[in-house]
Amino acid sequence: MQSSGRQVARGSLPAEHISRTFGDYVTTSANGAFDRTPFIAGNWKMNMDHVQGITLLQKLAWTLSDAKHDYSRVEVAVFPPFTDLRGVQTLVQGDDLHIAYGGQDLSQFDSGAYTGDISGQFLNKLGCKYVLVGHSERRTIHNESDEVLNAKVKAAFRHGVVPVLCVGEGLEIRQAGTHVDHTLQQLRAGVAGLTNEQAAELVVAYEPVWAIGTGEVAGPEDAQEMCAAIRAELETLFGADVAAKTRLLYGGSVKGNNAGAILRERDVDGVLVGGASLDPAEFANIVRFESHLVAD
Ligand code: PEP
Repeated sequence: MQSSGRQVARGSLPAEHISRTFGDYVTTSANGAFDRTPFIAGNWKMNMDHVQGITLLQKLAWTLSDAKHDYSRVEVAVFPPFTDLRGVQTLVQGDDLHIAYGGQDLSQFDSGAYTGDISGQFLNKLGCKYVLVGHSERRTIHNESDEVLNAKVKAAFRHGVVPVLCVGEGLEIRQAGTHVDHTLQQLRAGVAGLTNEQAAELVVAYEPVWAIGTGEVAGPEDAQEMCAAIRAELETLFGADVAAKTRLLYGGSVKGNNAGAILRERDVDGVLVGGASLDPAEFANIVRFESHLVAD
């Protein structure tokens, strides 16, 4: 149902663009094609009411249309508040936009006496392709445990919505040097019991908590270190074919001026963007990361 694992051939770009765009270190396979379709996701958090949300999405779509953005080459998704989703669906359908959208959370249950919660079934019905699961703000503010998040990942798949499972360490853990173990533990708990097919479709976002909304950005090497460790763990759990398909994102103070360097890393297939996704020009700049890359 979605495009993870699809190879985007080098031949789809004009030669002049390729030579400017691809260096040896870009997120590519050895032959210069993306290993997985890059995914640029904007998490609006609790910003933008349903009227503001429509304006933001329209401006983003116009900016990307002016730039002749090829959505089949770099996928774009936004994660608005629940109350915006119906309006977003109407705009996307009405204007035939190729921007995907999703919820910021879902219930682990399908229906019933769960006041305030939203079923994956409702998200599916609104045309949501994705849903965030386990964003650090849900883990900390709402005390969501790894067990609950695993149930939410499964609920998303049950309802035909692709989960974007967020993992990542806080500052103390990073300073103690146990960030890889910590993050892989969150990963293992989050993906427990998934089928190989589900694991291949899953998106994992590595978001070091100390870099979210702080202006502190993990260096490209840090993002690569963790994404490589996540991919290796997925290989152990599900096999090499699956691990080669799962898309891994980095999130934490990504902006137009640092996205290109992060996305050059081989195991980083995209970015999850908070603050900068509220500015359509800045977010479009991140989506257009290839045009900022300069071959070494
Ligand atoms: C986020 O909310 O997932 C995030 C990465 O936020 P920011 O880009 O603002 O750090």
